[in-house]
Amino acid sequence: MSGVHRQALASLQPGAQNSLVIGIVVHSFNMKTIDATRTRYHNGERGVWTFTLRDSKEHSINVTVWGSVAYVKKLSADFRIGSVVEVINPKVVERRENDRNELFVPTVSSLCSLTVNEGNALVQPHDAPTRAMYESLLTLPMKNLTELQSLKSVFENLEALRDQYVDVLVVVTFVSDIRNVMTRDGRSIKFRNFEVTDGSTDEMASFVLWEKDWIERAAYWEPKRTVLFLVDARIAYDNFKKKTVLSIVRKTLITENPDVPEAKTVRNSVQFYNPDMMSGNIFASPNPDTITTVMTVQDISNKLNKTPKQGDRIQFAVILKAYVIDINVNSLSPTILSRKCALCKRIVLDDQDSCMNLECPSGNGTRPPMNVLSLNLKVNLKDDTGYLIGCKLFGDAAERVLGCSATEFQTMIIPQREDLKWKYALEKCDVRLHILGPTSTFPSAIYNILSISRNEDDDDETNALAECLIANQIDERR
Ligand SMILES: [Zn+2]
Repeated sequence: MSGVHRQALASLQPGAQNSLVIGIVVHSFNMKTIDATRTRYHNGERGVWTFTLRDSKEHSINVTVWGSVAYVKKLSADFRIGSVVEVINPKVVERRENDRNELFVPTVSSLCSLTVNEGNALVQPHDAPTRAMYESLLTLPMKNLTELQSLKSVFENLEALRDQYVDVLVVVTFVSDIRNVMTRDGRSIKFRNFEVTDGSTDEMASFVLWEKDWIERAAYWEPKRTVLFLVDARIAYDNFKKKTVLSIVRKTLITENPDVPEAKTVRNSVQFYNPDMMSGNIFASPNPDTITTVMTVQDISNKLNKTPKQGDRIQFAVILKAYVIDINVNSLSPTILSRKCALCKRIVLDDQDSCMNLECPSGNGTRPPMNVLSLNLKVNLKDDTGYLIGCKLFGDAAERVLGCSATEFQTMIIPQREDLKWKYALEKCDVRLHILGPTSTFPSAIYNILSISRNEDDDDETNALAECLIANQIDERR
């Protein structure tokens, strides 16, 4: 192309002619279609697509593409987050203060915006040796971390911070499947939920992704491993949840696994989080050592029976002082030992090699399957106020409680397995539970056991119940 000359974003001036800008796409919005009746020259339906381009550690710019729907659709599909592109002969426009549109795009360093009009400008791939240099920018934070806030301080100051933007560095604890919602005008829109924490609090922040590029990238996020740097997450009142929440908005920029030492610290803060495998979702549960709240079965039931606020899943962690009345180690059901995908934690069926989850790298073939053997046990508990039946004891927690690995368990015969539960079956124990309230998808509460330890102090409390249990167990074993 004759007449164009390469411009670094740092030196780009408003009105520049024939410029060529090279950079990596670090953020991309969904393409929008503008109804023919609303376009300025009534020249038919128009497409518009905005993305953010970065060409160095410090410099970034927003680019908006206008054109026929087919043209814009093709460009937005061809160039994704991570693509290195050349923008040739765009209109270089000075950003204006008080421009309302600036509220709905990420904050960038450049004083300008680029407009690509179909027919007058081009966006094309940058296939040159310098490509790798741009690619490395994808994991560099878009901003330095000096204004980072902990989730704890955000949650404690929600009202004071209302309508402000904050930067947080968090680790993913849960990623939902892709979901659909119908708009009022009958369009189906995809979205995905995810949850994060940062080790400063037991509370999770939950977010929704609406932009298709991010929805797709989130398929590769690994709970407990993927760290996200969120710049300009917004604290605002949520009309649906009826409370002030931290959320991802159009201004928010996300950097995956940012190349900073702090990322490792945040990742390490979730070492004790246990995935819940049984429900098909992955929930993060708290470090059992940090739980101090003691509740009875009655207290737990009362808490669960309080009507939850719309959109919220109640979850809490407690110590229950209870008798372990059964652990189904002697069950003949094949489900007590299962193969799980090490990445997405879904069950791998006997006749399959992988989880077959198309959103998981092992399931869709982009990585070799990595399956692990896992225990899935059910435990029944009782205290003076009632029963908790069918509590889940799985994965690492099950191995710790039984004192044997899933692989060792697999080789044992039934009487050997029964011996494993004997040390708890007669004793009053401290059972640390992570409790998830019912939701529209899971109508029953889920009781996940994080640990069981014999309560040595309560010897004198061995009451009639315990004696009765002893009698039953002895009878059973004869
Ligand atoms: Zn998988």
